[in-house]
Amino acid sequence: MSKASEESIRCSFCGREKKEVNVLIAGITGHICDSCISQAHLIVKEEGGLKSKKEIEETLKLLTPKEIVDKLNKHVIGQDEAKKVLSVAVYNHYKRLLQKNNLDDNIEIEKSNVIMVGETGTGKTLLARTIANLLNVPFCIADATVLTEAGYVGEDVESILSRLLQAADYNVQSAERGIVFIDEIDKVARKSDNPSITRDVSGEGVQQAMLKLLEGAQVSVPPQGGRKHPEQKMIQIDTKNILFICGGAFDGILKIIERRVKSQSIGFNSLSGEEFNDEKMLSHVNQLDIKKYGIIPELIGRFPVLTYLHPLTKETLISILIDPQNALIKQYVKLFEMDDVKLIIKDEVLNYIVEKAILLKLGARGLRSICEAILTESMFNAPEKDIKELIIDVSYAEKQFLKSKISKLKVA
Ligand code: ADP
Repeated sequence: MSKASEESIRCSFCGREKKEVNVLIAGITGHICDSCISQAHLIVKEEGGLKSKKEIEETLKLLTPKEIVDKLNKHVIGQDEAKKVLSVAVYNHYKRLLQKNNLDDNIEIEKSNVIMVGETGTGKTLLARTIANLLNVPFCIADATVLTEAGYVGEDVESILSRLLQAADYNVQSAERGIVFIDEIDKVARKSDNPSITRDVSGEGVQQAMLKLLEGAQVSVPPQGGRKHPEQKMIQIDTKNILFICGGAFDGILKIIERRVKSQSIGFNSLSGEEFNDEKMLSHVNQLDIKKYGIIPELIGRFPVLTYLHPLTKETLISILIDPQNALIKQYVKLFEMDDVKLIIKDEVLNYIVEKAILLKLGARGLRSICEAILTESMFNAPEKDIKELIIDVSYAEKQFLKSKISKLKVA
């Protein structure tokens, strides 16, 4: 082929010349470029992946709330109230989906989106993720702090749905029954309880933008997310049946609850002293407090279910280390087993790990790093040395821990 005719070769789909694309593949009568291949691949997945309603209903396992809680107990320690509230919300949500075909009585069950209030690292994401796994529905996590109103720097709210679509392997019908977990919703609270006069792009603006998703509308979603691929074909997703679960630490909410509860209890049977400790106080949280915190009423209206998670106690943290199906200590025992070493971690070490996690204010999230700090040296040596049993006691744990970077962390 002459150089001139080679240069005039174009993609038969988008018309771009060879020099404008990365790869151009020749067919019998035409050519296709890499970007058109990706687009075509998406379309094939989207069309070919469509499952019948019945098929989806079959894959969606309708578990009873009790069954959901029983299964959650294998993965999440404590948080009984949140488990109960969440399991009922999820059960009703999927019941609602399954009764869609049967609307003869004109009673339409409303959606039960959930807000979870609880310190970071108490298991909010874990709960949402575990429920999605149990029900076999697509699940994605979005961080409210990186979202912005359309047109501003940051991620558009639609990008959340792109992620869900990806988690559903581009099966639109399956994505439309998925679960979205929006983390750090408290960080987009508006600064005061009153509507702002000036525009509040990062806070209230994001909340307004989120309403679009929550209202149960058809939303145009860029399948690959972001604005980097302006040529990509938009996919329509109906958000009516997507379950949204929001989580946030709502730092300082205890004060708001306390003020409300105290003012309400004046003149009535006032609450006992016990009711005013932090743990009990959190159990009184309601939508009014969330509004006071700066979540707009329209958004709160879309989240009829509200629950809370307790801060983790020392006992809970120890249980997290050893009890869940996939508990950290079980994982380390298995790792050593693969090197034919029996790992024994003394109870005093578990206490030590948990105390450090509390001291460094790392919560459950820090348990892993502390275990790594203690066990890395042994994991390095185990495959080389001919040992059958390794007993970790507190003096060894402390020696290893003090050598690690994590021990140098300063507590704020
Ligand atoms: P949150 O979303 O509340 O900030 P996560 O759910 O992401 O917290 O928890 C962080 C990690 O800590 C989890 O992956 C899990 O390993 C552990 N964890 C936290 N809370 C619990 C719990 N109640 N039961 C078991 N593991 C937990």
